[in-house]
Amino acid sequence: MSLARIVFCAVLIILGLPLKGQEPVPGNPADVIREGQNQKKALRIVEGVYQAVGFGNTFMVTTSEGNVIIDTSLAAGAAHHVKLLKAENAGPIRYIILTHGHGDHTGGVGLWREPGTAIIAQRNHVEFMHYQARLHGFFGLRNAAQFALPRPAGREWPGNYGAKIEPSLLFDDRHEFNLGATKFELYHTPGETPDHLTVWLPQSKAAFVGDNYYQSFPNIYTLRGTQPRWALDYIHSLDKVLSLKPEVVLPSHGLPIHGNAEITRLLTRYRDAVQYVHDETVKGMNAGKDVFTLMREIKLPAALDVGESYGKLSWSIRGIYEGYAGWFDLNPVTMYEVPSSSVHADLVRLAGGAGAIVKLAMERVEGGRAVEALHLIEAALAADPDSRPALEVRLKALHFLRDRSRNSNERGWLDYSIGVTKGKLAGKQ
Ligand SMILES: [Zn+2]
Repeated sequence: MSLARIVFCAVLIILGLPLKGQEPVPGNPADVIREGQNQKKALRIVEGVYQAVGFGNTFMVTTSEGNVIIDTSLAAGAAHHVKLLKAENAGPIRYIILTHGHGDHTGGVGLWREPGTAIIAQRNHVEFMHYQARLHGFFGLRNAAQFALPRPAGREWPGNYGAKIEPSLLFDDRHEFNLGATKFELYHTPGETPDHLTVWLPQSKAAFVGDNYYQSFPNIYTLRGTQPRWALDYIHSLDKVLSLKPEVVLPSHGLPIHGNAEITRLLTRYRDAVQYVHDETVKGMNAGKDVFTLMREIKLPAALDVGESYGKLSWSIRGIYEGYAGWFDLNPVTMYEVPSSSVHADLVRLAGGAGAIVKLAMERVEGGRAVEALHLIEAALAADPDSRPALEVRLKALHFLRDRSRNSNERGWLDYSIGVTKGKLAGKQ
């Protein structure tokens, strides 16, 4: 390893950043959203382009006529990013560009905005913001659970179209402007969200791709809840970025990728991985297979294995399937508002009571079949909601799954469930 490489790695370690080329080690969700908080100095990516690292990143492009901010991170991390980036260049903020309307990109808008700052987003941003505000209670609880945050205070429903819309400039497919000697081209590249855009700086061949690329299979379905994220949109948008022939790609999570050969290799593999999962899901649907069969059957070929530390294949397969087809599974019993859990207590009684079911659940955990154990515990708790043995086996099954999980979102939900179960055992609920 060269001295330069050793120094580079040491700097990344000090900053708390993953080394390039390493499979990201999934952190705990609460740690993931604190990413970059120890960064002491903004990264200079290419001439006039700086990055503050976080969940997500904030970028600043400096010009002789003022600066452009691309994404603004979560509200909680934004003040730190403002400090790091303004230390590099304290020029006026002429534009804020939002790659999309998620809170980890829009949270710091208020800290960056100055009189005369124009805020730019793709036109679908408006409905996307209204959608998030419309369901703010739903998302508030789920975000808190997934990322181990405090439960948000309840607030009044803002109505169907009650979001605060920050952007002053909206575009449909493409928008461009010049500032100083720098040209900015913006393209609508839907994927993670319908309002997603890519910023392209033709002179430095830099593409800011938001969340359409990161170091894991994409979260085509996220457990905190989402409207369908269309796999074919990701594919077209990645193709668009590849067609620009970038020399540097700057994702909103993680570190930039340098060099067109490496970018082409990584983004093509990513695109092909999404295409493979999409097409296999569609083939399975057309062959009459049910969603759970496809969640089990479809695996990425080794050459397309991009990791599952954030998005997960099985959730994405179900997201694609149900995105296309909705929830009905051809079984007439699911047409009705009476779920299978309505007969759990009867089955448990016929099996000899909750104790027998809990015993079987324990055997399942010990045999490595923890998910089956959780199903059995659901039944036992339907018959006896306060059963301590049932809750204790539930806890064992959850810990079994958590110990083996390599996915930060999965860990988040297991942690949440572990907390709820412990709370019940402590007699709090
Ligand atoms: Zn993000």
